[in-house]
Amino acid sequence: MPRTAKILIDGATSDLQFDYLIPDELVDQVVAGCRVRVPLRNRPAVGTVMAVVENDRSDWRGKLKPIQGLVDRDPILTPPLFRLADWISDYYLASREAVLRSMIPQAARTGEGTEKIRKAVVLVSDPDEDALENLRKRAKRQAELIDHLREQPDKQGLLADLTGSSLRFGRPTITGLEKAGLVEVRDETVARDPFANEEFLPSAPLKLSREQEEAFRIVVEAIESPEDASPAPILLRGVTGSGKTEIYLQAIQHVIDQGKGAIVLVPEISLTPQTADRFKQRFADIQREVAILHSHLSQGERHDEWRKVLRHEARIVIGARSAIFAPVRNLGLIVVDEEHENSYKQETIPRYQGRDLAVVRGHLERCAVLLGSATPSLESWRNVINGKYQLTELTQRIDDRAMPLIRVIDMKLESRKQRGGPAILSSKLRLAMEARLADGEQIILFLNRRGFARSMLCPECGFVAECPHCALALTFHREEDRLICHLCGHGRVAPKRCPECSSRAISMAGYGTEKVEAVIRSVFDDARVARVDTDTMRRKGQLQETLKAFKTRKIDILIGTQMIAKGLHFPNVTLVGVLNADIGLHVPDFRASERTFQLLTQVAGRAGRGDTAGEVIVQTFTPHAPAIQFARHHDFIGFATQELEMREQFRFPPCLHLAVITVRSVHKERAEFSLQTLHRRLKRRLPEGVEMTEPLPSPLVRSHDQWRFQVTLKSGSARRLGRHLRDVIADLTFPEDVLVTVDMDAYNLS
Ligand code: ADP
Ligand code: ZN
Ligand code: ZN
Repeated sequence: MPRTAKILIDGATSDLQFDYLIPDELVDQVVAGCRVRVPLRNRPAVGTVMAVVENDRSDWRGKLKPIQGLVDRDPILTPPLFRLADWISDYYLASREAVLRSMIPQAARTGEGTEKIRKAVVLVSDPDEDALENLRKRAKRQAELIDHLREQPDKQGLLADLTGSSLRFGRPTITGLEKAGLVEVRDETVARDPFANEEFLPSAPLKLSREQEEAFRIVVEAIESPEDASPAPILLRGVTGSGKTEIYLQAIQHVIDQGKGAIVLVPEISLTPQTADRFKQRFADIQREVAILHSHLSQGERHDEWRKVLRHEARIVIGARSAIFAPVRNLGLIVVDEEHENSYKQETIPRYQGRDLAVVRGHLERCAVLLGSATPSLESWRNVINGKYQLTELTQRIDDRAMPLIRVIDMKLESRKQRGGPAILSSKLRLAMEARLADGEQIILFLNRRGFARSMLCPECGFVAECPHCALALTFHREEDRLICHLCGHGRVAPKRCPECSSRAISMAGYGTEKVEAVIRSVFDDARVARVDTDTMRRKGQLQETLKAFKTRKIDILIGTQMIAKGLHFPNVTLVGVLNADIGLHVPDFRASERTFQLLTQVAGRAGRGDTAGEVIVQTFTPHAPAIQFARHHDFIGFATQELEMREQFRFPPCLHLAVITVRSVHKERAEFSLQTLHRRLKRRLPEGVEMTEPLPSPLVRSHDQWRFQVTLKSGSARRLGRHLRDVIADLTFPEDVLVTVDMDAYNLS
């Protein structure tokens, strides 16, 4: 009986699958999860095999066209990955096509670049010294090429590299040697190993501290849990420098010893060469088995790393968010480092949360899942409280060094002293900086400028305009001169004077890094100053250069945004200044407080990692804000407990699920009208236990020339919420220039 493959074509606008005949010669190879080439309306196309059925089960009555060939020898999606794809598509309301698109890396999609055969020049006969000397006189470049090839590990080089701009060997040089029978030009499939020229000195496992022992024991127990049960995910809460990474390393070793594989997710921003090296070093003896999936790799390198996984040549995968889709077989462990990081949330379709997928995949593969952080997300913390996750903690830094002292400066007093404009530098911070500079120590100044700062704040008394119903900062809408809560729609006229103290100085909170740099340069005119933000770090490699200069003490003061807050190790930094903690704190986002707490804790972790005690100075107009006070006392549990109570009271995640539907269009009325229609339909059959706001302008009402309006829905059950949205949206059609997006478990509310 001939067989038929059900195929989802790349780029399809609907999830319709097409039937194709599997030709005899491919019968053994075409299975679900394979990528294949097929004709589509007489044009070549690529698609994914979703299922294979007996021919008489095909619904198609016409003559079936045959599959033309395989893109990859091995299926790209393993059965658990297939089920993960279904789950994502369901939960995040995304088409299968979009889900597959994000699961399969760009480089591996078309098959171009796959099995790409490139020309390599191979040294086939090594001339003796006399012959080489002779050659050196006759044809210098030919001799140089031989010298070069001799030094290569397998005595060969890619033609493109040899003739490229750095080596510049000419074709005649190569042809000359070819004629002399010294080299051959061959077709080679060469894996581009980004670490090919590096040697890794093996690092031995360290003797674990007592706390680490205990944490490790729990992880091992999960790894060894019986095949038919999926162990509860483990949350590893450990202050910065408490040795979490060492536990990851030893747990992975344990998994490898059992013949299984592991995936480690790391936030993109901390996936630095140093991080990669740490893993490469520990597993130096099986170095080729470690695949690093990094956005700084070239397309080709990424593809090759990924391919190593596909071919079972790599059992350990380290990568950012999308590495959760790596086709590792027989998975034993998934680690999510810095699990609280927002960058695990993908902000394009499908809008998945990588950490959550780690838990789902872990469940599907019945493997251990380890989430690590110094400041766990409230989502994960709540799961610990509910008994869904196991908790294990590291409370001590490995070197027993104390957590740095955090001093909070009340900027209300400063701005009264300094008169005129918001104060950027308090006198306390300034004095502290002078002292550190005099001692030859380094300083990081941190301006927490994430998102937009359009909340109203009084620099005299610290008043922040907040919504009485949601306890969220109100957003200033200039066009209407009103303050609006975009979650519930509460609005009022923007005050000209502070409602608390009648000051006229009430204004938008915020100033930028550029201004800060100018001020710092004028105050400390001898100091060497550098600024790191998306404006100054446009060129590739620039961030690495600046950080290196800072590490080698060529810079005294580093000013930066959150780009410099994470995971960096600078032993000589003894002072960290947070210039304006309010910027991230009073934004219209219910996670503002959590983010500020995490950020302050992370930033504090930057100070005093060397031998000198560290100090952190936090400037704020609202010194009593819980995020600031709890961070100051290094009190995660206190913060989490209070914040969860708040979330419960005002009905925010993680106490329930929240979905934001955004409607965009260049035409304001069309966006508004479409959203109103959608809103009416959603409301008509709103299931019990689902709440919905009225249609509202998005906090960022215009962006990229588009008008944006949104409704927010909440429910205790993500399934119920998802089903309702799917039912209603599937029934509606929108004008072509209107774009509707659903963001389930949204992080970015703008
Ligand atoms: P974290 O990941 O929690 O920030 P790391 O794993 O990076 O912590 O550990 C911080 C430092 O302590 C590293 O330099 C690491 O090599 C060292 N370290 C970790 N565990 C031990 C141990 N058991 N004995 C000695 N040094 C350790
Ligand atoms: Zn005031
Ligand atoms: Zn409100």
